[in-house]
Amino acid sequence: HDEQAAAKAAAATADSGAPTIFDKIINKEIPSSIVYEDEKVLAFRDINPQAPVHVLVIPKLRNGLTELAKAEGRHGEILGQLLYAAKIVAEKEGILDGFRVVINSGPTACQSVYHLHLHVLGGRQMNWPPG
Ligand code: 5GP
Repeated sequence: HDEQAAAKAAAATADSGAPTIFDKIINKEIPSSIVYEDEKVLAFRDINPQAPVHVLVIPKLRNGLTELAKAEGRHGEILGQLLYAAKIVAEKEGILDGFRVVINSGPTACQSVYHLHLHVLGGRQMNWPPG
């Protein structure tokens, strides 16, 4: 698993500010399995699920939030909305009794898509520490 993590870290790119695949998902140019959507937030199933439930929660407007490391005071409202949407997703998916919310920020944390996203994971026993 160390090898896997190292490979993923090596493949990880830094934040370039370029548009990402998530723009195409938001604009419905490529299909996704949407779990929850409102005016500000979109939640859809991860294409490479790491648990029986693995949903990504993203802001529809990236607005400089390529990664959590870029968060500023002006992002406070959307950050709260994303976290609340994660709870709504967990409720819809029937995993309110136990779920995990993860944000990978930056190459060292293996972030691969530079549009802020929360991973909502559950449906199995989660372990600690994470890899
Ligand atoms: P990160 O590694 O940046 O924390 O998470 C990015 C996530 O986006 C990964 O778990 C990856 O599987 C997922 N992902 C990448 N491309 C797509 C896509 O085109 N559709 C969906 N549904 N998920 C994607």
